[in-house]
Amino acid sequence: MNIIKLLPKETIDKIAAGEVVVNGASVLKELLENSIDALSKNIIVEIKNGGKTLIKVTDDGTGIYKDDIPNAILRNATSKIDKEIDAISTLGFRGEALASISYVSKMTLLTKTAEEEFGTQTMIESNEIISSEPVTANKGTVIEVRDLFFNIPARFKHLRKDSIETAEIIDVAQEIALSHTDISFKLICDGKEVIYTDGSGSAEKNIISLLGRNFYNRMIPIHIDDEPLFVDGYLSSVNMIEEKSSCRMVFLNGRAIRCDAVNQAVDSVYRELCGKTGADFILYIRLPYTMIDVNIHPAKLTVKLMNESLISMLIKQGIRDALKEQFVLKPNNKYSFTEPGKSIEAMVYEDANSYISPSQKMLLETEPQVYGYSSIENHTITNNSTEFDESSALKTADLSFQISSASETVFPTVKKEIFLQLSNMKFVGNAFGLYAMIECGDDLYAIDTHAAHERVLYEKYLQDFYAKSIGIQSLMIPVLIPMSVKAYFQTIDNKDLLYGLGFEIDDFGDNTIAIRSVPHYLSNHETSILFLKIMEQISVFGNSDDINKRSEKLIKAACHNAVRGSENISEQETKSLLKDLYHTQMPFTCPHGRPILGKLKMSFFMKAFERI
Ligand code: ADP
Ligand code: MG
Repeated sequence: MNIIKLLPKETIDKIAAGEVVVNGASVLKELLENSIDALSKNIIVEIKNGGKTLIKVTDDGTGIYKDDIPNAILRNATSKIDKEIDAISTLGFRGEALASISYVSKMTLLTKTAEEEFGTQTMIESNEIISSEPVTANKGTVIEVRDLFFNIPARFKHLRKDSIETAEIIDVAQEIALSHTDISFKLICDGKEVIYTDGSGSAEKNIISLLGRNFYNRMIPIHIDDEPLFVDGYLSSVNMIEEKSSCRMVFLNGRAIRCDAVNQAVDSVYRELCGKTGADFILYIRLPYTMIDVNIHPAKLTVKLMNESLISMLIKQGIRDALKEQFVLKPNNKYSFTEPGKSIEAMVYEDANSYISPSQKMLLETEPQVYGYSSIENHTITNNSTEFDESSALKTADLSFQISSASETVFPTVKKEIFLQLSNMKFVGNAFGLYAMIECGDDLYAIDTHAAHERVLYEKYLQDFYAKSIGIQSLMIPVLIPMSVKAYFQTIDNKDLLYGLGFEIDDFGDNTIAIRSVPHYLSNHETSILFLKIMEQISVFGNSDDINKRSEKLIKAACHNAVRGSENISEQETKSLLKDLYHTQMPFTCPHGRPILGKLKMSFFMKAFERI
């Protein structure tokens, strides 16, 4: 008996269509990828009712030859693979999208190549060509997809309400617009222009116009050029990150991808520098096509990198270099004495932490109940600053003042050379026993001396630890520390680890340990207090972390508690501290991520004293 049979063609097509087309957003993604592959420079998208009634993409790309049109809608037919599947440089290559989309909709395809005199307009329904005729047309392709799932009611029922489908479409368009800054994109949803980018090739411009000035303000640029890896992009300044990231995008050779290796690389560097992992980033990565396997995910979202550990290492190093090079200073307008709470910059800054994407904004505007419109109405407005500035018809009149003012606010950034520069400037004195004040041009800089000392000490100690050259100071009389049972056992358990850090310990019995030597860096401090602080850290980590990471945490804790005498430091000490900072791996923050540098502008005083 045999019961295994090949499925009928119609069923196979239906299943295949289901894999590619789930909703309007997935249709749009495929159509946009085709337009990009066709080398378009201008792409206009119009959608209606969340893509349910219409998705129309107009491009000025190569077009499709008249004779190729029947093949374009054939499954597994593509113009994009002529040699090997191992080195694919186009976004598409499976030849599945047009077949699937035309299978579940009513499609009109209008297209003309540069060589042809006339274009061809073809009507397709359920993947069948209904009519095809010559028409006058510009070079390029216009695809209209109407009545999505008209022939599969079960799938149609699964589409969500228009506003949610629209939001997802905006996300797709936004991602594509960010991925190809050299192409001009326009997205019109139900007659309103939601996205416009000018195709000037500037990632900065697109990020500001799509994600907002407030988002961009918190980012610093990254650039890696290290064969075979090339990276450009932006990531959060170490002091500007939240608990949770709001936007992470990776474009690999122009394709938006999810890549765990990249996420982990970013998180590990930020964890190392400031103990937090909520960094945002937009990274444009280029790698040879032969080092990528895009074929492992049906929607080509997840990619596998060959040589992943090498790539990760290069990315981590590039991030460290970028973060130590530049830093975003938090603006202090918030504390302005003139009309507190009225300054636009202050409002912008306060709101800068909550980024709302165009799609969320659209949802808020069209479906107030979704996110509780009334309570966050004001937020929505101010914190979006510029993203709808020129491009959006959604903007309402009473917002225009705030929007245009906010767009002027640029957060100040500093380069690490500032530390060398400041070491040659006028030392004004110490404020509050906490900050060394230095005058530089029109700015008054404040250095948090405790944080600065902590950073310098931490890096010296860490360097010695890795070089196994920690100087130790033997104690003439061992310090005895009585401990709780738990702390005592943990200490004995970590004896070797502590030895590596310069603490020689003996078991004195009776829940008491004897410390015989301490690291040279910490020799001026109250040994037992310092030691107990370190032991608090030991009790929080299990045995899972590797020994170096555990040691780093302990060194962090030790330095935090060891820095003293930062109050009222002299001019000479301040200057050498600044030079030491310049040579650290992260001069802008203490090892726990607190900022070291801040500034007040002269204009701040001038305004306060009504000179200007
Ligand atoms: P794939 O993109 O994987 O090749 P598709 O089904 O998306 O498969 O498209 C089939 C073919 O139709 C493409 O290989 C391409 O030759 C042609 N095509 C589709 N859209 C366009 C477009 N906008 N401009 C030019 N050619 C297109
Ligand atoms: Mg395609």
